[in-house]
Amino acid sequence: MEPMEVGVFLCSTGIYDPLKAIEKLKELGIRNCQLPPLGEEWLSPEKAETVKKALAEAGIVPTTQFVGFENESYASMAAVEETVGFLSEARRPARIEHTKKIIDFAAIVGVPAVAAHIGFVPEDVSDPRYMQLVETVRELCDACAAKGLMFSMETGQETAEDMREFIKTVNRPNLRVNFDPANMILYGKDKPIEAVGILAPWIVSVHCKDGTWPTAEGMLGSETPLGEGQVDIPAFIAKLKEIGYTGPLTIEREAGDDRIGDITRGRALLESLR
Ligand code: MG
Repeated sequence: MEPMEVGVFLCSTGIYDPLKAIEKLKELGIRNCQLPPLGEEWLSPEKAETVKKALAEAGIVPTTQFVGFENESYASMAAVEETVGFLSEARRPARIEHTKKIIDFAAIVGVPAVAAHIGFVPEDVSDPRYMQLVETVRELCDACAAKGLMFSMETGQETAEDMREFIKTVNRPNLRVNFDPANMILYGKDKPIEAVGILAPWIVSVHCKDGTWPTAEGMLGSETPLGEGQVDIPAFIAKLKEIGYTGPLTIEREAGDDRIGDITRGRALLESLR
């Protein structure tokens, strides 16, 4: 893989069968990807071997395996706090178990990192959920380390400084960041270009995604095609170069009805900047 080679988050194709999505990326000439959250039905060693073979045959390198859970909602800030990641005590044990199965799957496929939205890190470190989240991430980092993998936190549901403090508290050598500049804006949390500098030591992968700031209290902003939002994609890529980032530029597109068109145009933009 070349430095800053353009890749695609598999589910951003709008094709939810990973094997069919891999075929589509091959057709587009994409040579690296992030693997999408997968349901239990995919998490057997046999299925992992099938995905590994499909990637190899397509000449596509998997760079990160994402974790997602049933019943997560991104409809509003309150819905995210309630349903996303490991914050809910009731949902946590089953989600940790599911994540461990994903880690086993990723190890067989040969993906170097497993990533997740862990849920809003509480701003108040004396909130009991803060240390519960620290312990959860430690457990997942250790499960990844046992397989020689990294565990990455997706950015954006807290400020970069809060995330940095959280990472220091977790204190695990294989903990990394999947930096998504649009999330910083969509959740109204932070300025993405400055945030790259704050989280630089931990950034192992990025989402190339764009969006606009929220316009209503309690709601998220809107995702846009790459280059049409408020991230300032040229400044984002320039900042990544400044910190010495050489990993993939993974396009993520979660909205709109022309995913492939948006990916193709986004790729052209990134190729002109990298
Ligand atoms: Mg993202």
